Parts: sequence; C-alpha cells; structure tokens
Amino acid sequence: MSHDKNIMVILSSPSGAGKTTLTKKIQQKYPSFKISVSHTTRSPRSNEVDGVDYHFISKKEFEQMIEQKKFYEFAKIFDNYYGTLKESVDETILQNDILFDIDWQGTKQLSQFKNLNLIKIYLTTNNKIELKKRLIKRNQNTLKEVERRLNSFDEDIKHWNDYDYIIINKNLDVCFKQIETIILSNKTFNPSQIIQ
Ligand code: 5GP
Repeated sequence: MSHDKNIMVILSSPSGAGKTTLTKKIQQKYPSFKISVSHTTRSPRSNEVDGVDYHFISKKEFEQMIEQKKFYEFAKIFDNYYGTLKESVDETILQNDILFDIDWQGTKQLSQFKNLNLIKIYLTTNNKIELKKRLIKRNQNTLKEVERRLNSFDEDIKHWNDYDYIIINKNLDVCFKQIETIILSNKTFNPSQIIQ
C-alpha cells in the first residue's frame, strides 16, 4: 500500500463494543479522517441527528437508490437498510481519509472494489456477557433488541476472516493505540496533520 495515498478504514464491530467512541477519538487526533455518514431506514435514536449520525430516509427512497445503483454497498440489518453512497465516498477520498462504521456484509461488498485503499478492522469485546452489560448500560435498545444484537454476535464471528485485523477491546486506550499503529503503518502523516 502506498504511504502517501488517502486511506479508507473500516471499523466493524457488534453494537456496544466501543466503536463510536473510538471513531471519534481517531478523528479528533487525525482530522484528515472524515466519518462516512450512511443512509438508513432505521428510526433515529433520541440523541441522533439527521445528516450527522445517519441520513435517515424511508424504505421507498432507499429502494429507489438501490435501483439507481447509488450505493457502493448496502445491507439489511435488523429489518432496516443501511448503505454507503458512492458519490460521497468518491468525492471525500480526493481530499480526506475515510472511516467507515459498517458491518461484515458491507465490508465484503467494498472489498470487491480493488481500487479502494481499504484497511479492514474488526473490533470486538472479550465475550458476550461483557457485550450484554454494555448494551444494557447504554440503554438505547429494548431488551428484545439487546437479545437480537447479541445473537448477531455469533453470526459476525463467522466473517472475521474477511478482515485484516481483529482487535479485542479490553481497554479503550490500548485499543486506540492498536488502531493508531495500524493506521500509521499504512499512511505517513505530516506532524501538522496530527493533533496531540
Ligand atoms: P446501528 O443501528 O446500531 O446504528 O447500526 C447497526 C449496524 O449497522 C452496525 O453494525 C453498523 O456498523 C451497521 N451499519 C451502519 N451503517 C452501515 C452501512 O452504511 N452499511 C452497512 N453494511 N452497515 C452499516
């Protein structure tokens, strides 16, 4: 991989493994990274902002966009569609590095585009009990949803082979350092591009 090219980092994980905090930390220290804002048909959570966390659209709109081949990748997860727009990725990568928070299905689809400078990281927790605790503590899902998200943990494990790196998040700071090491081994940053 060339060290001066902009890079695309996929960070997949079960919900509750600490991914959101980590993507924000990466972006704060390396402002050249933009977080890819996906489109989804899921309803916004109380703390989510349209256009910032996701572009929230209807199922009909999403299906039209699939027909128009507007997505690099899309997937149906927990009965809702999620997808990444081609146009915004192609535009953003000209000036910036990109962080994707997408699942294994999207990762598989993006991997088919050999021209993309992809680094694929799977972030997970020690075990399901830890994950359950985090999901309940986060208090954003009903108990039924928590169960559903936990079940998808077993499915996700089957796709770890599709990733370049698997990181176990026991400690957020250690985990951040590991991701940083991966990023720095794939791209050289000027000191002015790093905020200490
Ligand atoms: P949540 O509903 O908790 O925000 O996200 C559920 C799952 O959808 C997470 O695993 C997240 O990584 C995944 N996801 C979010 N956006 C996209 C996307 O654009 N494409 C794909 N394939 N997965 C996505």
